[in-house]
Amino acid sequence: MGKKALVTGSSRGIGAAAVRLLARDGWDVTVHYNRSRQAALALAAELGVPALQADVADSGQVAALFQAAGPVDLLVCNAGIAEYGLFTDTDEDAWRRLLAVNTDGAYRCCRAAIPYMVRQKAGNIILVSSVWGLYGASCEAAYSASKAALIGLTKALAKELGPSGIRVNCVAPGVIDTDMLARFDFADRQALMDETPLGRLGRPEDVAELIAFLASDRASFITGQIIGCDGAFGL
Ligand code: NAP
Repeated sequence: MGKKALVTGSSRGIGAAAVRLLARDGWDVTVHYNRSRQAALALAAELGVPALQADVADSGQVAALFQAAGPVDLLVCNAGIAEYGLFTDTDEDAWRRLLAVNTDGAYRCCRAAIPYMVRQKAGNIILVSSVWGLYGASCEAAYSASKAALIGLTKALAKELGPSGIRVNCVAPGVIDTDMLARFDFADRQALMDETPLGRLGRPEDVAELIAFLASDRASFITGQIIGCDGAFGL
C-alpha cells in the first residue's frame, strides 16, 4: 500500500485534479467532499478509493473525517469558497464564514494531521492559497485575507515542523477554470485571460501538477515556499 494522502475539497476542480494525479503517482488517496456527494462518489469509484464527507468549517466534522481517514502522510488543504462584493457590504457573518472555511478549515485539518506526522518524523502539508492572498483583490477582501493567512501559516509551520522532517508549502493559483469562476460571464473571462501574460485561464491540472511535484521526493528540500501557478497574472 502506498503512502496516504488526503486532499480536502476534492469532489471538484483543483482538488479533484490533484487526487487524480496523486493516485497516478502512487499515493493512496482519499477523496473528500462537503456538498458534492455524487461527484465525489463518482471520482472515488473511478480511482477505487474511499470518499469521506465533512464540512471543514465544523470542528466535530473535521475530527470525524480524520478518525475515518486514519493517519495521513500528505495533507492538501484545498477546500475553499469565494465571495464577491464591496468590503463595506461584507457583514460579519459573511466574513466569518469565509475565514471559517478557508482559514480555520486549514487550521483544523493541520491540527488533526500533524501529531501522526511528528511521531513518524516525516510528513508533507500543502496549503492552497491564491494570488489574491499575495496581492489582494478589490471586492474580495475577506477572500484575500483568508488566503493571506495561509501564507503566514505555511511559513510558520515550515519552521516549527522542519525539525520533525515535515515539509510545508503553499501553492498560489492564479485564475483557474473551475466552478469558482461561475459568476464570471464571457467578457469577464476574456478580461481575466487578457490580464494573464500566458493568455489563457489555468487548468485544474496545472495546479495539480505543482501539488504532485511538491508532494513528491523530487521536492525533498523545498519547504516554507509560496509557489505561484498563475501564468504571471498579477505580477
Ligand atoms: P471549486 O471548483 O469551487 O471547488 C471547491 C472545493 O472545495 C469543492 O470540492 C468543495 O466541496 C470544497 N468545499 C467548499 N466548501 C467546503 C466546506 N465548507 N467544507 C469542505 N469542503 C468544502 O473551487 P476550485 O477552483 O477548485 O478551488 C480549490 C481551491 O483553490 C480553493 O481553496 C480556492 O480558493 C483555490 N483557488 C482557486 C482559484 C480559481 O481561480 N479557481 C484561484 C486561486 C485559488 P463540495 O463541492 O463537495 O461542497
